[in-house]
Amino acid sequence: MCAAIYAARNGAEVTILEKNDRLGKKLSMTGNGRCNLTNLDMKEEYYNLSARGRMKEWLGIYGVEDVISFMKSLGVVVRSEDGYIYPASGQAQTVVNALTNELDRLGVKVIYNQQFKAVNSSEDERGRLLIKTSTDECFADDCIICSGSLSGAKSTLSTGDGYYICSKLGMTIKNTYPALVGFKVDPEEVMPQGGVRCMAEIAFSLGNEIITSEYGELQFTKDGISGIPVMQASREIVKFIEEKKPVFAIINFFPDYDEVDFTALKNDMLRLKDERTLSEFLNGFANSNINDMILSKMKLSPSMRMKNISVSMATCILDNYRNYKLKLSESYGYQASQVTTGGVSLGDIGSDMSYKKMPGVYLAGELLDVDGRCGGYNLQWAWTSGSIAGTAASI
Ligand SMILES: Cc1cc2nc3c(=O)[nH]c(=O)nc-3n(C[C@H](O)[C@H](O)[C@H](O)COP(=O)(O)OP(=O)(O)OC[C@H]3O[C@@H](n4cnc5c(N)ncnc54)[C@H](O)[C@@H]3O)c2cc1C
Repeated sequence: MCAAIYAARNGAEVTILEKNDRLGKKLSMTGNGRCNLTNLDMKEEYYNLSARGRMKEWLGIYGVEDVISFMKSLGVVVRSEDGYIYPASGQAQTVVNALTNELDRLGVKVIYNQQFKAVNSSEDERGRLLIKTSTDECFADDCIICSGSLSGAKSTLSTGDGYYICSKLGMTIKNTYPALVGFKVDPEEVMPQGGVRCMAEIAFSLGNEIITSEYGELQFTKDGISGIPVMQASREIVKFIEEKKPVFAIINFFPDYDEVDFTALKNDMLRLKDERTLSEFLNGFANSNINDMILSKMKLSPSMRMKNISVSMATCILDNYRNYKLKLSESYGYQASQVTTGGVSLGDIGSDMSYKKMPGVYLAGELLDVDGRCGGYNLQWAWTSGSIAGTAASI
């Protein structure tokens, strides 16, 4: 939609081929229905390693202020929440409506329920490209492929068609993995009821080597962990999990406590040589379900008397509040993920988003090997690449 608007504003005659029965289905679901459009804290480091050099250049061409101006030109008033930019309406659907209204105004033709299948050079005397869909064929001077990724609910029809189409054109496709996603663990090691949230620091290790760590609101599900810190880290660890390598989450429920604080807690614990139960002592330590989860993992009874707690037991209990270790078994998959890592290699793409080996073909969006952190970075990429491709294709 963004690419089409930029091309049409530049005078091009544009047609959108849309597989779904409406435009912007995924966009309408973004940001929990509120659409986190972009972020004032924009740095290339917030994108995958293989994209960073190119992102610096592209964000220099079309950055955060350009998105805000673009939104303004569509009549979308934006609001910052600690730098996270949302439409003031608080409704993602208003962004979709504003984009579709602009497409209408510019006379962009939209053909719904039309699956784009291929683009080829043709014998056409004007040197146009031949576009094939599941039911039809047509000619075009230029073609922008922006069919998205594999991530998102089934209803978004995100089936990664573009990867196959682009590989047929000779583009290199980097292995794809679901990202901004939660992970399953052994259900015995979390809480059967799920649904518990708490602030925590989580480090992720491959074997014994820490790969990354995040702080934020951790969410326990019935059989795994999710929430912003897990999703943020997922981009860096999912590849190892899919390759069946041993990846662990190490949770610190007391990130603000240092060694001195823990020694004091341990001394408190050992001083209580009385009839109080372990459960009574730990009440107020953390959410009661988290306390139960830790005791259950240690196979300790909550009704154990404090007078029976040994030094090694106390050390071990407190260590679990600082280093609760879970082995991650698999991700919740593409349908639960917000973004796909991997995709069309940026080595095949010019600065103007063109495919280097086929004049007239451009790419934009998540189909490319670009993925960002949670916080508006993926939509920023959609706006940046869409505007650059749309402008270039219309020249
Ligand atoms: C639940 C969820 C929440 C998210 N929240 C945020 C957020 O708040 N902020 C943020 O920055 N990012 C967010 N993202 C990520 C963001 O939505 C995507 O990165 C972005 O939408 C990608 O844009 P795109 O245009 O490349 O692909 P899409 O938005 O997926 O659009 C691709 C379009 O192509 C169509 N299509 C696919 N195949 C074909 C075909 N063969 N023929 C014709 N049409 C086809 C699709 O139907 C779709 O309309 C979220 C993602 C999800 C799943």
